[in-house]
Amino acid sequence: MSQPSSSQVFYLCDLFASIQGEGTWSGKPMVFLRFWGCPLNCSWCDEPLHKDPKAKIAMSIDSILAEIERIGPKIPAVLLTGGEPLAVKELPMLITALKKAGKWLGMESSGVGYDIPQGLNWLTISPKKVISKEKMLKANELKFIVGPQTTKLQKEEINHWAQTHPNVWLQPISDGDIPNSKATEICLDWVLTSQGRLKLSTQIHKYLKIP
Ligand code: SF4
Repeated sequence: MSQPSSSQVFYLCDLFASIQGEGTWSGKPMVFLRFWGCPLNCSWCDEPLHKDPKAKIAMSIDSILAEIERIGPKIPAVLLTGGEPLAVKELPMLITALKKAGKWLGMESSGVGYDIPQGLNWLTISPKKVISKEKMLKANELKFIVGPQTTKLQKEEINHWAQTHPNVWLQPISDGDIPNSKATEICLDWVLTSQGRLKLSTQIHKYLKIP
């Protein structure tokens, strides 16, 4: 693992405590560390902060650790999310520091960026384009965002992974803060006819109106 350097700076756009609202760990308290920036530009992206230059905050490893301790002293889990954490070359340094601090560490990624770093306790890949089989198989869960525009090819890819991976979720695309109703209908029908291979990710934090 890369050794942390006190001068290394990371660009974040948010750092907050809440519960995980999606997928396997729904309801689990976590500190969310949201990286600024993403190499992709999905039209439905529901995290606009990562593109806002005014939201970009430079933080050293020590200041990130101190802020995690300040906002979530009794929360052992940290989720690296974005934006795109995997596009941050120096990410392994931060992972080393967080592991030294005793954190349970999860990461949510589109799979676009560098190799999957070591030291994670949990990896969610939510692919927005075709990702290598090697990376997909390293994920503990796969989460596909589905909407009325999802193509036949994308559906074939999802059906392939539904047969290949043990933990696959469909998440309806959002219209702002609520799921698109047509997308929900498509996902529900797909999940109900998947012979138990697919699950519906419901983003409970949006219904609870919490971050
Ligand atoms: S990959 Fe995720 S963070 Fe990046 S633009 Fe797409 S939805 Fe937004």
